[in-house]
Amino acid sequence: MARISHASAARKCGFCSRLAGLGEGCTIFAKDGNPVYYCSRKCKRNAVMKRNPRKLKWAHAGG
Ligand SMILES: [Zn+2]
Repeated sequence: MARISHASAARKCGFCSRLAGLGEGCTIFAKDGNPVYYCSRKCKRNAVMKRNPRKLKWAHAGG
């Protein structure tokens, strides 16, 4: 019986730590070449601006 692994189909947002499935959000490559996934353009934009997710209501790190 095959097991479906949700973990492999979801990625963790590099900004708000939310798990999002494939097809959501986007992946960008940092200056050092490491891929960083963001669940939304909002997260990507805030990460680029070096915002602290702890200061944002909608970003619950580790939640
Ligand atoms: Zn996010």
